[in-house]
Amino acid sequence: MTASISGLVSCVSDTEQTDAPLVQMQRISAPKFDRDSAYAYIEEQVNFGPRVPNTEAHVACGDWLVKELQRHGANVVEQPGRVRAYDGTVLNMRNIIGQFRPENAERIMLYAHWDTRPFADKDTIRIREPIDGANDGGSGIGVLLEIARILGADSTLDVGVDVIFFDAEDFGAPEWSSASVSSMTTWCLGSQFWANQPHKFGYQAKYGILLDMVGAKDAVFNREGTSMAYAPSIVRKVWSSAQSLGFDDYFKNNVTPQTVDDNLFVSQLGGIPSANIVHYQVQVLPMGYGPFHHTHQDNMAIISKSTLDVVGSTVLDVIWND
Ligand SMILES: [Zn+2]
Repeated sequence: MTASISGLVSCVSDTEQTDAPLVQMQRISAPKFDRDSAYAYIEEQVNFGPRVPNTEAHVACGDWLVKELQRHGANVVEQPGRVRAYDGTVLNMRNIIGQFRPENAERIMLYAHWDTRPFADKDTIRIREPIDGANDGGSGIGVLLEIARILGADSTLDVGVDVIFFDAEDFGAPEWSSASVSSMTTWCLGSQFWANQPHKFGYQAKYGILLDMVGAKDAVFNREGTSMAYAPSIVRKVWSSAQSLGFDDYFKNNVTPQTVDDNLFVSQLGGIPSANIVHYQVQVLPMGYGPFHHTHQDNMAIISKSTLDVVGSTVLDVIWND
């Protein structure tokens, strides 16, 4: 009863409150994130060449990702599919799911996209050529592979974790295409495929965290609008972990416009509320994704081990303090 509860509270004097034992929320420190390992994982992906669906580099990189997850002890499910791109091309895609503690009903989902943009449509040169995708594609997967290594080596975490690598995120209609094909559903084809038919019937996770473009020097992670619409409490959880670790220079509290990214489809269609850690500038020019975005500048030269460490340590802190 509300009335009696407030009555009780008002009887407690200041002295009694001060003397009462403090209930402290002790944070558990997560295992150490290895920034060199994450960096090497990005380099290895870039060395395959652009990971564009329907190319040999894409198949070879996908095979390698499966092997790496297995090497770290994950139970791997591959979800192959055929999806239609904005221009009618049929893309052979493959979502890759690495399950840690698959028997545990309580789960957290960590995800990123592993394919890369087939064009450099925001560049001024070689706009029809594919990009390296060191940051856009490579960085999220690099951080998650390092987290997978840690999950495989550690036995103290109670919760089950699914590390999901979505395909065909970045085959959306290019800047030069007509408005009629530039619909938002031309993006994130792999996560849409998964959200319509998850790798396990009736799949559930408490929440998800998406990593997209998490490796650039001077990265800025604002609170992304779609995440705020579908999963504000998860955004708070992630940002408060980052800030408690002292990463305020990277994790900012401005809210971005709602963006179209894998978290939209996973949250809305798949029913898993998700927060997107994505490089999106609102107070620094250019507004929006960083200057590297969908250009040939998105190569190893812009990748910073410090940024990888900030993001990887934050995600580990969130799941270890779940
Ligand atoms: Zn992209």
